[in-house]
Amino acid sequence: MTGPAPAVFATAPRVSVVTPAYNESANLPLLYERLRAVLDALPEPAPWEWIVIDDHSADNTFQVVCALAARDPRVRGVRLARNSGSHTALAYGLHHCRGDCAVVLAADLQDPPEILPDLITGWKNGAQIVWAVRAGREGEAAQTVAFSRLYYWLMRRVVGMKELPPTGADFFLLDRAVLDAFRGFRESNTSILALLTWMGFRQTSISYVKQARVHGRSGWTFAKKLKLVVDSVTAFTFLPIRVMSYGGLLVALAGFAYAVFVIIHALTGSPTEGWSSLMVVVLVMGGIQMLMMGVLGEYLWRALDESRRRPRYLIEAVTPSGPTEAGDPTAPTP
Ligand code: UDP
Ligand code: MG
Repeated sequence: MTGPAPAVFATAPRVSVVTPAYNESANLPLLYERLRAVLDALPEPAPWEWIVIDDHSADNTFQVVCALAARDPRVRGVRLARNSGSHTALAYGLHHCRGDCAVVLAADLQDPPEILPDLITGWKNGAQIVWAVRAGREGEAAQTVAFSRLYYWLMRRVVGMKELPPTGADFFLLDRAVLDAFRGFRESNTSILALLTWMGFRQTSISYVKQARVHGRSGWTFAKKLKLVVDSVTAFTFLPIRVMSYGGLLVALAGFAYAVFVIIHALTGSPTEGWSSLMVVVLVMGGIQMLMMGVLGEYLWRALDESRRRPRYLIEAVTPSGPTEAGDPTAPTP
C-alpha cells in the first residue's frame, strides 16, 4: 500500500452491508441480530444500512427479509426475478448501496460480522479495498477446500492475478471511490472478486477464520463453480487462445516432420504401414481440434452474451424501505 490517505468525513461515514441470500431464511434473523449488535456498537457510531438481495430463493427468504425490514427500516431487501448467482446479486447490492463504504457479507454466518470493525479500521487507515482473508475454514468438506485452492492457484499462477490471496476471500470492504468505479463496468460474465483485484486502488487485508455454516447448505453447485472458473479465466486472460495457437503450430510441425519421415521411407523402398497409427493420429487430432473449438466457443459465447446487453438483473419485488434509486448502470440506455 502506497501513500495512504485516510478518509475524512464531515459527518460520521455511512456503512452499507451487502448480503446475497439464496435459501437463507433460517440464517438471516440470526445474522441480523449479530450484525445489529456489531454495527450499533461501533467505536465511532455510524448510520448503516443492510441490503439483502434474495437471489430468487425457493424458500421464504424474502418474507423473512420483509419482516426484518418492517421492524428496522435500515434493512432494505430486494428479490431478483430469477436465480442469477451470488456475483450478480452482489453487483445489484454494490450498485444500489448508499454508504461511504460497503461490506460484502454472506448470509450463512460463515463470515462472522464481528470482524466488521477490523475491516472498518483498515478502511479508516487509508485502504480503499480491505479483504478479509481466510486463515482457516471450519466444517468445510475436503473437496470444497481443494476446489477453492485449485481455483485460486489457477487465478494467481496461470491467469496472473498475483494479488488474489491463495486461500481466497469473499468477505471484504469497498470504499465509495471503488463502488463508483465498479459502476462503470458493464460486463456480466465475470468474477467480482477478480475484477476488484484487477481494479487496483489501495488494497490491504486482514485475516479471519471462516466458520461452519449455521443452517442450510451451500448454494454453489458444481455447475455454478465450473462456470465461475471459465468466466474468471476468459474475463482476464487470452492465454487459452494463445495455447491453442501454439499447440496447433506444434502439432502441425510434428505432422509435417512425420510426413517427411513417411516419404523418405517410401522412397527407400520400405513404406510405413499401419491402420492403427493412422487412427491414433486422426483421433488425437480430432480431439485437440474439438477442444480448441470449445475454447473459442467459450470466448465467442461471452462476446455474444455481452453484445445482447440484457439487463444484468431483473427485480421481482423490493421492501418498502428500498432500494429504489435508478437501477442497473449496465442496462442499455433507451
Ligand atoms: N448465494 C446466492 N445465490 C446463489 C448461491 C449462493 O446469492 O445462487 C449466496 C448465499 O446465500 C450466501 C453467499 O451467496 O450468502 C455465499 O454462498 P454459499 O454460502 O452457498 O457459498 P460458499 O460459502 O460455499 O462459498
Ligand atoms: Mg457459505
